[in-house]
Amino acid sequence: MPPTDFYPADYLTARQRLRDAAGRFGWMTAVHPITARGPGGGELTLDVFTSPRPAPATLILSSGVHGVEGPFGSAVQLFALNQWGNSPPVRVVLVHAVNPFGFAHRRRFNEDNVDLNRNFLLPDQRYTGSPPRYADLDPLLNPPCPPRRIDPFPLHAVWKVLKYGLPTLKQAIAGGQYDHPRGIFFGGHGPAESVRICGEQLPHWFGESGVVCHLDFHTGLGPWGSFKLLLDIQPTEQQRQWLTDRFGSDSFEVCHADGVAYDARGGFGPWCDARAQQSAGREYLFACAEFGTYGPITVLTAVKRENQAHHWGAAGSDATERAKRRLAEVFVPASAAWRSRALEQAWALVDSAARGM
Ligand SMILES: [Zn+2]
Repeated sequence: MPPTDFYPADYLTARQRLRDAAGRFGWMTAVHPITARGPGGGELTLDVFTSPRPAPATLILSSGVHGVEGPFGSAVQLFALNQWGNSPPVRVVLVHAVNPFGFAHRRRFNEDNVDLNRNFLLPDQRYTGSPPRYADLDPLLNPPCPPRRIDPFPLHAVWKVLKYGLPTLKQAIAGGQYDHPRGIFFGGHGPAESVRICGEQLPHWFGESGVVCHLDFHTGLGPWGSFKLLLDIQPTEQQRQWLTDRFGSDSFEVCHADGVAYDARGGFGPWCDARAQQSAGREYLFACAEFGTYGPITVLTAVKRENQAHHWGAAGSDATERAKRRLAEVFVPASAAWRSRALEQAWALVDSAARGM
């Protein structure tokens, strides 16, 4: 099967193909429903697939924290499952569609407009506040109307980049905000249902393993078709060495606004890490495996327009459908070259991680 065939057409197909493959290879399947519904009223679930045999080390691969990016992470999971069959080199846990609503409805955000990667707050953090300048940018980012066919937003965005510089602007917009519930990059006013499910299930994902590596698949940041492992937490010297040996010294980056990424509160990684550390002696390494697609203004424009369509447009209208199709394209390009290349790199990454644990 060519690599492009592993990309699902939609959420339901993605989930069914994973379930079928897991059943075929004797993996355990756990299904966790959320309250919100799919486009046709169907049930939405986080599905977790665990490889058949216990082992001292666990590799976790998660997808769809940002729903619309789900088809890529899902393709990686299905590909890996098919490669490994019933005997991966380590214990493997596949967490499919952390944000099933966003996956099914082609949104980055969840059923409450929450960016899940801003919602995993630590116990000492509160669901309030915004980066300086987000409020100034709010009218530009979140106009209260459906998207217009001719949208001067990209020009305004370029102007703001020139005025403030890209790192400052990235931080202001994408750092996460807790004050504008209909705005983009909203972190929520409390833990999302998906976050609660992750909290309950995380100990099962870790199992008895003393060593856990967790790769969370994302798209839309960085150069076309290439990837970076983004670390929210400074790796230990030993982890740094392991990352360098396995993937090369250029493959990873500790997040800061001057690099590919930016500082954000409420990320999945630090939250999992805090819980992993509750078990003394457990070695846990989390990285966002971030695959680049289009440039930052193109991506931001698509996020902004789909968000406008979601809140202010007519559901199912041509304009809304166009905005969603565009969002899907900027996060998981239809280009066969991008799809093949991204999946091959992702598999190389996953395979090397699994063999090196
Ligand atoms: Zn993402």
